[in-house]
Amino acid sequence: MSGEKIMKTNFGRPVDDDQNSVTAGDKGPIIMQDVHLVEKLAHFNRERIPERIVHAKGAGAGGYFEVTADVTKYTKAKFLSQVGKKTEVFVRFSTVGGEKGSADAERDPRGFAVKFYTEDGNYDLVGNNTPVFFIRDPIKFPDFIHTQKRNPATNLKDPNMFWDFLSLTPESVHQVTILFSDRGTPWGYRHMNGYGSHTYKWYNENGEIFFVKYHFKTDQGIKNLTAQEAELVKGTDPDHATRDLFNAIARGEFPSWTLQVQIMTPEQAESYRFNPFDVTKVWPHGDFPVMKIGRMVLNRNPSNYFAEVEQAAFSPANFVPGIAASPDKMLQGRLFAYNDAHRYRLGANYHLLPVNAPKGVKADNYQRDGAMRFDANGGGGPNYYPNTMGGPAPQPDAAEPAFEVSGKAARQRYMHPNDDYVQAGDLYRKAMSATDREHLVSNIVGHLKGAKREIQVRQTKIFYSADEEYGRRVAEGLGLDLKEIA
Ligand code: NDP
Repeated sequence: MSGEKIMKTNFGRPVDDDQNSVTAGDKGPIIMQDVHLVEKLAHFNRERIPERIVHAKGAGAGGYFEVTADVTKYTKAKFLSQVGKKTEVFVRFSTVGGEKGSADAERDPRGFAVKFYTEDGNYDLVGNNTPVFFIRDPIKFPDFIHTQKRNPATNLKDPNMFWDFLSLTPESVHQVTILFSDRGTPWGYRHMNGYGSHTYKWYNENGEIFFVKYHFKTDQGIKNLTAQEAELVKGTDPDHATRDLFNAIARGEFPSWTLQVQIMTPEQAESYRFNPFDVTKVWPHGDFPVMKIGRMVLNRNPSNYFAEVEQAAFSPANFVPGIAASPDKMLQGRLFAYNDAHRYRLGANYHLLPVNAPKGVKADNYQRDGAMRFDANGGGGPNYYPNTMGGPAPQPDAAEPAFEVSGKAARQRYMHPNDDYVQAGDLYRKAMSATDREHLVSNIVGHLKGAKREIQVRQTKIFYSADEEYGRRVAEGLGLDLKEIA
């Protein structure tokens, strides 16, 4: 058929027939020399790459970020250097605990990962739709995730595992309170906020340091599913959030978020009443007001899900000059874990994939070879440094300003052991409406009732420590004796 594209094998040979295997006679058997058939079946067997251990189910879109306020006194990051400046972004939203085929409406935090393709390389802000996290030390992370997934014997989700760990980890109560509010089942990805969650470090042209928290506030407004609505949506459209994001962008209704930041000086960090690096805590707005600095718009659907979304590799370790890590212990653990996960899932050269490679600037160093090195691999240039062969050299002014560290090396806790409860209580008392509180209690009771009584008691004591009314209402819902928890 002239004018149409010719089907070819992976190695460029024209394919003569893609409907009939080569057989000995019309009844078969198939003969081994049908190389095209063998290649086709063999490639099909290898179509799946390991799914992410967390955040396996997700949806993504491209767009841009635009600066709307001058922040140059806080950071020298080039992509934030001028009001009106636009930077291309790619964003992936996800659920955390479920497998790649799980329902979008599960009660779970939602991943909110943004890759900014800046002229100084990629900056990734890899957060969630919640401002805090369940634990504050990465050594607990594998255990925590095991409890949110499947029982090793039954391969079922297990309320005993789920609540056993949480009830032995009181620092989780702030995040648990958000998770079991209706914000734990967002209506869709367009209607939720995104938070950097960790504290990060900014530094300006003079090397002055500031600590920063990021909040992407949805311009579509917060909209959640009630527990009953979520149950229905899970059954009728397990991909509802993926569908909603894709269809909205396809219709030209581009979702957007306003980026706000809170800024803290190192002097304020020294004396603040909460440890500002503890990811189980927010910085209350009354203490550190938010400042609007930009707007992110998603206006492009991926043209191929696997290429762009499945292969997208975000990492909190991707910083640009002007932005750096804070001492937040969870963040420090993530600086290692994400890139390591990508090397396992996608291979050592995952950074060369188009969605992960920087745009407008080229990676240039002396790393070479490795599986699937599909660029020119440095060509004939030098593969060592220092050299006199004209290879790339470091640029000292890209360094983060030096900072002091001190203290005895030991396994140690943050120094505020008794404030696990105060912000969960503030959320319950201050931020939630009466309806929010009613739904929270009923959502908790609906899940916690599946756990053993001793676990129910231990967990309800934690809610009681956050707020007496909160604990009492959960106890009543579970039919527990108040004397056991007060
Ligand atoms: P504020 O009253 O200034 O802020 C309350 C915040 O709570 C708002 O940003 C609001 O987000 C958010 N919120 C409302 N309902 C819920 C919910 N069901 N789940 C999670 N967040 C909700 O108070 P503070 O800054 O003093 O914080 C009080 C509590 O609010 C904190 O302990 C924390 O739990 C929660 N919070 C605080 C944030 C912060 O950065 N300070 C950020 C998010 C939550 P929105 O504007 O989108 O409605």
